[in-house]
Amino acid sequence: MVVGNGQPVFSGIAIGRAYIYKRGQTALPASCGDSAVEQQNFERAKQTALEQLQALMEDTAQNVGEEQAMILDVQMMMLDDQDYLDSIQAMIQNGASAAEAVKETGDAVAAAFAAMDDAYMQARAVDMRDVSGRVVTILCGGKVGFSMEDPGILIAEDLTPSETVQMPKDKILAFVTRQGSSNSHTAILARVMGIPSLVKTEINLDDAVDGHMMIVDGFDGRYYIDPDEEVIRLMEEKKRTADEHQRQLEAYRGRESVTRGGQRVKLFANIGNPSDVEHVLKGDAEGVGLLRSEFLYLGRDSYPTEEELFNAYRKVVEGLQGRRVVIRTLDIGADKQAGYFQLEPEENPALGLRGIRICIRRPEVFRTQMRSIYRASALGPISVMFPMIASVWEVREVKEMCRSIREEMRQEGIPVGEVEHGIMIETPAAALISDQLAREVDFFSVGTNDLLQYTLAVDRQNPSLDRFYDPYHPAMLRLLRIVAQNAHEAGIWCGICGELGGDLTMTDTFLDMGYDELSVSPSRVLELRKRVCESEVSPK
Ligand code: PEP
Ligand code: MG
Repeated sequence: MVVGNGQPVFSGIAIGRAYIYKRGQTALPASCGDSAVEQQNFERAKQTALEQLQALMEDTAQNVGEEQAMILDVQMMMLDDQDYLDSIQAMIQNGASAAEAVKETGDAVAAAFAAMDDAYMQARAVDMRDVSGRVVTILCGGKVGFSMEDPGILIAEDLTPSETVQMPKDKILAFVTRQGSSNSHTAILARVMGIPSLVKTEINLDDAVDGHMMIVDGFDGRYYIDPDEEVIRLMEEKKRTADEHQRQLEAYRGRESVTRGGQRVKLFANIGNPSDVEHVLKGDAEGVGLLRSEFLYLGRDSYPTEEELFNAYRKVVEGLQGRRVVIRTLDIGADKQAGYFQLEPEENPALGLRGIRICIRRPEVFRTQMRSIYRASALGPISVMFPMIASVWEVREVKEMCRSIREEMRQEGIPVGEVEHGIMIETPAAALISDQLAREVDFFSVGTNDLLQYTLAVDRQNPSLDRFYDPYHPAMLRLLRIVAQNAHEAGIWCGICGELGGDLTMTDTFLDMGYDELSVSPSRVLELRKRVCESEVSPK
């Protein structure tokens, strides 16, 4: 038996046969000696690759989600990048074959991406290798593809976006990769598919493992190859317990979220993309309490248009079938960077130009987003909230911008629905002046992830500071209580949409403070409803 560890990206137990996936290794053909012919070969292969990617993108948008589809769009743009094309042409003219030129250029560009400081740009190295690999495969007369006869566990060095979307998804019980991260394409897909998966493992890709019995424990981040009988027994038991737990939670589907003492709370879900709506419905959330709209700005190289944003919000509103969605305006900056925003590098990006500060400094970006939100509001219940508020003047300025955008739309005859305007409470300043802020807005939603980082002065991204990032710190609890109290005194509702909202050990405390809404990941909703229904807290 071989036992190994990795970083779990989705929990659960998978038991099945191991399938090793290796990218085809092909010997690259040498140049035919005529650079014009090689250049033509390249142009043809590039065209074929673009057609394949276009078809894949359409299929992915329909069957997997917009987020994965957008990645293929990025790849198509990479194939048309002028520097990339110039480099290939120069190498062909210097005697390389088309395949050699594409491979070498792709590797060099990928290495440059990988060396960048920005995590998003680093992740594009995989896309560059993927798209160049596709062209090389076409030039070598091969095809990209992989098949599995039976359901099993897929093991790979790493999976590129176009590989993941071509995988036989109905047969995959789990992913195990040597590379990757919690934001890698494999991890995203695993979460969308809801299957246990591990990244950053030291699994041996030796073919001797292929076809062997394997177990993936997504709870403990462990895998077993050729498990002994004792491990099989233990894991089967663990799987039965997890399945049984999930079945029991089904009893809470469709039920009201009300305590034994009669206190009601809304249980909403946090999402990043229109395609996540299916998980909101599957998780039985009562609405979306946080749509992190910045994800619509990531994974692309230009600003989304009003039409693109409108279509994304429309898809969410229609998918939610009457449930409310709270759209947070874009929270770019800090850890979420998009190159085309051309933000100056900063010493302290978490304290820098981010969230609402960008919208105030770049009113056109804000205007495009708000117009698309207002247009979608005519189709169903939408609330909008602004991130990273610290001062009353910011709220007033943003409200004035919103008013003038609505007025402009009214003059254009564009219908706008009733939209609630709220703010995120995620700076200690906002929490401390929440009495003044409450007079300006329709609701509060507390972003505990940032509120904790700024209250305790602990970087939320630094895992070595985990012990200091204490969500139960008395300062944090005091701020949370102040916010709820001030909201209710002003007659507005308040919720929590940070990670702490899903912490079952805190549910009674939040109910006791009077929070009206908790917004958590869709898969946590039923578990949280169970906890609420078992609570004795009663209304004050
Ligand atoms: C938060 O800060 O708690 C929050 C919900 O926003 P994000 O995690 O996107 O910064
Ligand atoms: Mg935040």
